[in-house]
Amino acid sequence: MQTPVCELCATTNSLCSGCRAKLADGRITEFDVQVAHLLSKYKEKFALQKVQFDRALDLGRMAVILTSSDVSHLVGKGGKTAQALSKELGKRVRIVHANADPRALLEEILLPVKPTGVNTVFTQKGKQLKVRIARKDVVHLPTDLDSINRVLHSLMGENTVLVFE
Ligand SMILES: [Zn+2]
Repeated sequence: MQTPVCELCATTNSLCSGCRAKLADGRITEFDVQVAHLLSKYKEKFALQKVQFDRALDLGRMAVILTSSDVSHLVGKGGKTAQALSKELGKRVRIVHANADPRALLEEILLPVKPTGVNTVFTQKGKQLKVRIARKDVVHLPTDLDSINRVLHSLMGENTVLVFE
């Protein structure tokens, strides 16, 4: 199994100097470390040996976990691993492939809401990606707007905006 921290740090509660440095300069987050610990705890139980866990995004009521191995390995049989993660983190959990194209990733994150359109527009500040959502769907978004905006910016660039219409 691969996680953002080294094998030793995934299994112990302290971080080595290498992983501490990564945390300090923002290459990894506390949330990455938390998820790495959980996954290493589940490694035998859910046969996660082949799993490659890349990043975990804390989105308030929801967490998005990016993996570069097969998504089904981390979701688990019948969704067991994802459910266990969800229970321990106290959040809805979405597992998404790290190499999914940004549009597919976005659609996955917004579920059950489907954007009415995603368009690139050109403004004075340059290219902007507009994600359009029907106003009536706002209440069905999986988590709060601030968190969604944060993940949009981190995955698709600062020039992404959500538009409700
Ligand atoms: Zn380490």
